[in-house]
Amino acid sequence: MTSFLDLPADSGFGLHNLPYGVFSTADDPAKRVGVRLGDTVVDLAYLETHGLIAVPGAGRAPVFHGTLNAFMALGRGAWDSVRGRLQDLLSADGPDDFRASETHRASGMHPLEEVTMHLPAEIGDYTDFYSSRQHATNVGTMFRGPENALMPNWLHLPVGYHGRASSVVLSGTEVVRPKGQQKPDDGAPVFGPSKLLDIELELGFFVGPGNELGSPIPIEDAREHIFGFVLVNDWSARDIQKWEYVPLGPFLGKSFATSISPWVVPTAALNPFRVAGEAQDASAGNPEPLPYLRQSGERSLDIELAVKLKTAQMDEAETVARSNARYLYWSPEQQLAHHTVNGCNARPGDLMASGTISGETEDSYGSFLELTWRGTRPIQLPSGETRTFLADGDSVVLAGEAVRDGVRISFGEVEGTIAPAR
Ligand code: CA
Repeated sequence: MTSFLDLPADSGFGLHNLPYGVFSTADDPAKRVGVRLGDTVVDLAYLETHGLIAVPGAGRAPVFHGTLNAFMALGRGAWDSVRGRLQDLLSADGPDDFRASETHRASGMHPLEEVTMHLPAEIGDYTDFYSSRQHATNVGTMFRGPENALMPNWLHLPVGYHGRASSVVLSGTEVVRPKGQQKPDDGAPVFGPSKLLDIELELGFFVGPGNELGSPIPIEDAREHIFGFVLVNDWSARDIQKWEYVPLGPFLGKSFATSISPWVVPTAALNPFRVAGEAQDASAGNPEPLPYLRQSGERSLDIELAVKLKTAQMDEAETVARSNARYLYWSPEQQLAHHTVNGCNARPGDLMASGTISGETEDSYGSFLELTWRGTRPIQLPSGETRTFLADGDSVVLAGEAVRDGVRISFGEVEGTIAPAR
C-alpha cells in the first residue's frame, strides 16, 4: 500500500496506520475528525460532507464533526468500511475521486503543523488497570518485601481503579505540580507541593459500542469493543499516594492529570503485531483464570515503548527507559471483560489504561519509582544533573511504535512539562 503523498518508506504514519484524531484549524475552529497520513491531516468531516466517504450504520447526523464518540459507537463494521475506503482513496493507485481533485486536496488536507489537536473523544469514564506483572512485583517488593510482592488476587483478576476523566489532558498540556497531604515517616502529616512527582508509562484504549447496564461483554466479543489505542502518562504523586491510598486506593495522588497522545491507532492497524504473552496456566506456573477471563489466541501486542526526559537545562530529551506492551499479563480484552462482568456499562469514548508497563530489566521500568528504586538510585543525565523524581521544568515524553516486516506503526508521542505548584 503506497500513498499518493510522497511518504518515506519507513513512515510510521503510512496507509497501514491511519490513526484518528480530532483537530481544528485557524480558519475553521470547529472540532472535527481527521486521520494522519505522514505530516498531513486528512479532514474526514470534509470527506463526509462532500460524499467521498459513507459511514455504514450512521443516521442523518454527521459522524465526523466534533469528537470521535459517534464513530466509536458504530462498531467494527463501520470502522472497517471507513478504514478500507480511506486506504483506497489515499493510495497512489486507487480511485481518483479525491486524489485527482485539486479542490478536494486543497480543502480536505491540512499540514500537521497548521492544525490544533484536541482530545480525541469526550471521555465519560476513565479506568486505570495494574496489568504489568513486573510493575506490580516491583512496587510490592518495595513496599511489602519480596516474599509477598504480588497480592493474592493479582494473578486471578485484572486489578484496577476508577480514575478521573475530567483531568485527562492532551499531549502538550502543562502539568501543574499537585499539592496535598504527605506523611513523613517520623512526624505528623504536612501539606504542600508533592516532592515525589512521577510518571507511569501506559497504553490506553478507547471503548467502542460498549454494553447495556446489566449485560456484560463476553471475553470472545471484547475485541469488537476496542476502537483503538493511545499512549498514556498516568502522572503520580507518590508521597500523596502513599499516605492516602489505604483502604480505598488511588485518589488525589493520581487525579491531578493524566496525559494522552493525540492520535488513536486503530485496533485493525495493530492486529499484525499480536504475540502470545505469558501463558496463563500451569505450563508457566500460573493459575488458569476463571472461564470469563480465559482468552484464546494471541492476546499481547508487540509495541516498543520509550520514556524520555528533558530537564530545563538539556537541549534534547534523553531516553531513560525502554519497555514493550507485550510485557502486560492481562490483555485489553481481559480488562474489558472483567470491567463489565458485574454488569457495569462501558460507553463509547471511555478510556481504559493498562497500568505501568515494566519489563524484567532495570532499564525497562515504566516509572521513576522503579527506575530509581524509590529514589535510592538516581538517574545520571548528560547535563550532569541527576533525577530521582521530577523537578519543575522537566519535560517527559512517552513514545511508542510497532515495527514488523517493513511496516511501521507509530503512536507518536505524549509530552508533558511540569509547572510549579500554584
Ligand atoms: Ca497507573
